[in-house]
Amino acid sequence: MILVLEPNVSPEGPDYRVLMSQLARLPGIDYRVHREVGSEVTLTEIYLIGNTGALTVEQMQVLPCVQKVVRVSEAYRVLGRHKQGDDRPSSFEYNGVRFGQDSLNVFAGLCAVDSPESVESMMKALQQHGQVCTRMGAYKPRTSPYAFQGFGATCLPYVFELAGKYGVKVIAMEITHESHVDEIRETLARTGNPTGVMFQIGTRNTQNFELLKLVGRQQEFPVLIKRGFGITLDESLNAAEYLATEGNRKIVFGLRGMKTNLGDPHRNFVDFAHVPVVKRLTRMPVCIDPSHSVGTRAGAPDGLLDIFHVVAQGIVAGANMVLVDFHPDPSKALVDGPQALLMSELGPFLEDVALVRETYLKRAENARRAKAA
Ligand code: PEP
Ligand code: MN
Repeated sequence: MILVLEPNVSPEGPDYRVLMSQLARLPGIDYRVHREVGSEVTLTEIYLIGNTGALTVEQMQVLPCVQKVVRVSEAYRVLGRHKQGDDRPSSFEYNGVRFGQDSLNVFAGLCAVDSPESVESMMKALQQHGQVCTRMGAYKPRTSPYAFQGFGATCLPYVFELAGKYGVKVIAMEITHESHVDEIRETLARTGNPTGVMFQIGTRNTQNFELLKLVGRQQEFPVLIKRGFGITLDESLNAAEYLATEGNRKIVFGLRGMKTNLGDPHRNFVDFAHVPVVKRLTRMPVCIDPSHSVGTRAGAPDGLLDIFHVVAQGIVAGANMVLVDFHPDPSKALVDGPQALLMSELGPFLEDVALVRETYLKRAENARRAKAA
């Protein structure tokens, strides 16, 4: 059960103290307080854990400071959509960029940072096309211990400075260890916070629970958590819930394809049909990663690359974010060159995205009209 308190409730106020003492007296019930400090309002939610079946909504509704009571009906207590009275937000803002189940942000960028020249060429192209988000891999979890592992902390200063120079506000960057969080935070501070970072939890770390708890405990940086490529959707959504129970609610859920047989046409089996499913089950914005799911530059006879086709499939179904690999010279990329799009393809890619997004918005509008009729 969730108690949504009136906005801007002060933990020092007398009513709040009365509420706390009443909660402490409930037998077999534990509670956890979550405060979301926004620029205009502070929201407080109290999660009641334990034998809540014995409590009634009416009984809790009359407690001081309580605005609304939500009976938790689904497995994902914090992130889920619950049947009764659940109109908690499905969006958040970070560094001036809004992420919601109704918005769309493209994160085109390098799979792995390999030189200041590649980073600059990418950032410049993004600015020319009015883009304010990108992906930049500094810490690369690789299948082989002999493969390039990313430049790590050494590339962060120029990545952040170039982002600032070209007006990039959010960089999606995978982290695999606690030290990466500190290195990113320190480098951002040292370079004067020229940009923002969205931590990425990769598919290999979806169930690295200690990493999830650690990243969940900080509320400074939003998190993109990728679906685990060999586990169930329920297991991956529970992994996202780990982040949320620790306090971070700025979470985007990423679909990136599921493991398949070697020799299959795509590197992974594209799972973007699950975009509306995740939006129905949870309040998280949903990201699609066409590069790591398709894994090649193969094209269809109609002239469109498979990557373009799957992006269209995800967006036409309501995807909210696209994480996609580009490289100025894919043959020289140190990681995942074969799936990278060319700089000359950025314009056509964004045009295709806009076209399909328009179609999605029309489809959703038609559905709303049909329901209202
Ligand atoms: C990536 O986005 O660079 C990446 C390694 O993705 P995934 O974790 O989905 O394999
Ligand atoms: Mn990659």
